[in-house]
Amino acid sequence: MIKSLLPEQTLRRIPLYHQILSELEQKGKEYVSSAYLANFFRIEDTQVRKDVSLINHRGKPKSGYSVIGLKKAIGDFLGINYENSAILIGAGKLGSALIEYPGLAEYGLKIVGIFDNNPTKIGKAMGSSSILPLESIDRVVNTFNIGIAILTVPKIAAQETCDLAVSQGIKGIWNFAPVRLQVPPDVIVKTENLAVGLAILSHYLKRR
Ligand code: NAD
Repeated sequence: MIKSLLPEQTLRRIPLYHQILSELEQKGKEYVSSAYLANFFRIEDTQVRKDVSLINHRGKPKSGYSVIGLKKAIGDFLGINYENSAILIGAGKLGSALIEYPGLAEYGLKIVGIFDNNPTKIGKAMGSSSILPLESIDRVVNTFNIGIAILTVPKIAAQETCDLAVSQGIKGIWNFAPVRLQVPPDVIVKTENLAVGLAILSHYLKRR
């Protein structure tokens, strides 16, 4: 398994710092303090300074961090300042919602091909693209440098579509199907599981 060099809690906060900094940038703020960022997470400001130092960025004494400078440092660290081309497999309800979501582009994700195996969907528009048959995957992968395959297929089709993406040389799988995928060691899988979030929420509610 490929591991990050950062502690997991830091890695979870870093994209959220980026989001807060984007909002501050839009409001025209030039500097932000570690205390301001710490307040969002209810953590000590020393922890924020530690997080930021782990991505090799420094603030200015008294003024804090430059909003643009820190946002750029985080973007470089996460690799979201550069465009990441992706394909999406499974042009259903969730696939369509992701295609319509502008927030992904803000994180450098550009979906350049949408695929489905349902013949009635092929050729139909989704967002500004047309849905393609799975047979066209190699053409799209050979044209663009695809880093990520987004899987929004039913559980039963997740492993086979993952294998297809991996066979095309794609190294990042963003999986939305509730299934544990098997991949070679050089492939990274991130599975989103809404049920886990709900289970944690209901556990905390029950403990009240
Ligand atoms: P959906 O049925 O609307 O869409 C699935 C799409 O995948 C369909 O267009 C289908 O034709 C296509 N498909 C099926 N087998 C395929 C294959 N072998 N190759 C290519 N395409 C194939 O389902 P959905 O609601 O969008 O959910 C998709 C996945 O996301 C499911 O695994 C679901 O559990 C998960 N999920 C959905 C939601 C949601 O809110 N809809 C939320 C969280 C997770």
